Amino acid sequence: MNNYLLKNANLYRNQKFQIVDILIEDGVITEIAQNIEKNIPTYDLKGKMVSHNFIDMHVHLREPGFEYKETIASGSLSALYGGYGTVVAMANTQPCMDDLDTIHDFQKRVEKDAHVNVYTYSAITTDLKGKELVDMAHIVEEDIVLGFSDDGKGVQSDEMMDLAMQLASNIDSIIVAHCEDESELQGGCIHDGLYAKKHHLVGINSASEYKQVARDLELVRHYHNRYHVCHISTLETVELLRQAKKDGLPVSGEASPHHLILTEENIRDCHPNYKMNPPLRSKEDHQALIRGLNDQTIKVIATDHAPHAREEKNRPIQDAPFGIIGIQHAFPLLYTYLVQKNLVKLETILDALTTGPAHVLRLKGTVEVGAIANLCIFDLEKSFVIEEKDIRSKSINTPFLGVTCQGKLVANIINGKMIEMEEM
Ligand SMILES: [Zn+2]
Repeated sequence: MNNYLLKNANLYRNQKFQIVDILIEDGVITEIAQNIEKNIPTYDLKGKMVSHNFIDMHVHLREPGFEYKETIASGSLSALYGGYGTVVAMANTQPCMDDLDTIHDFQKRVEKDAHVNVYTYSAITTDLKGKELVDMAHIVEEDIVLGFSDDGKGVQSDEMMDLAMQLASNIDSIIVAHCEDESELQGGCIHDGLYAKKHHLVGINSASEYKQVARDLELVRHYHNRYHVCHISTLETVELLRQAKKDGLPVSGEASPHHLILTEENIRDCHPNYKMNPPLRSKEDHQALIRGLNDQTIKVIATDHAPHAREEKNRPIQDAPFGIIGIQHAFPLLYTYLVQKNLVKLETILDALTTGPAHVLRLKGTVEVGAIANLCIFDLEKSFVIEEKDIRSKSINTPFLGVTCQGKLVANIINGKMIEMEEM
């Protein structure tokens, strides 16, 4: 059974690190203390970091409908190898996750195939078309649905969003918003900035994001409903969210690893693996995101893991689909590019991967006695190169291939069960 002792772990919990032993019996953490002795399988974790395993509140698992890009099995395996224990899938599947039949079918697939805990959002509007609200009150009764999102599309109609926010408030659920004002778009593929100008590409302006965020925050002021902004990419959005929080609104926001690490200046050769929505923005936007993460305006890091098949991404940047994979290497990349470069503290990153999203979605994200063991174990001394052959996703659309990262996953403990990636 799942009985084992973790010795000398550098455990992160309650916002601090402490060297402790962790006793796990029947998959439950039964003791956290110094010098626990027990005659059961024992792992010496000297020098290793242990945290609650990560929660990604924004992934595209592509199933049902786009299994050639990713499946629940392959996407959740990527999550497992990334140190994640929980992911929340977006509703832009086919059929769309906008009714109970589709959601029940998804739940069955999850029970059969998933390697980590998998939840989903329901769409806000039928087939993400923005014309008709889903039956929110009915759908939210399903335990697997954690909120509502039309991710991939912004809800364009002010009246529709007004109604959705009001309903969300009534049923105490959350709107997870992909903010994109289509009246600002002209078919762009990267940020409307230096790189777009230099390469004569149509740009995507910042207003397309922050205008819709501003509209939504006005609605939250009125309804006081739970509201979360997806993949924040602009300086203006960070400022809007900071003010809304200051005003005491029940709002939150996420940033993705790629927006926290890269800017438009990192784009090379107009390669489609630098194409995502929202796009990589300017240096000033990047600095605003880092500031937002450091001052707790942004309390969630979510990957927006968006697999696409090779053929699709092998098109010119104007024609290739938006999105990159990200869940398997999120932590090592954040550790390498943000923590080791002294831009963000390790504690802040870990909070944004655990307690941050847990708080927003009302999930468990802390390590405590009595809880089912959900832990990840990293060796921060170890480095490795991100190679295609090691990618567990079905797709390889990432701009980080060939990059050397610090911080290797040693094991992931999912609901009490230990899965070892490295010899311990
Ligand atoms: Zn999105």
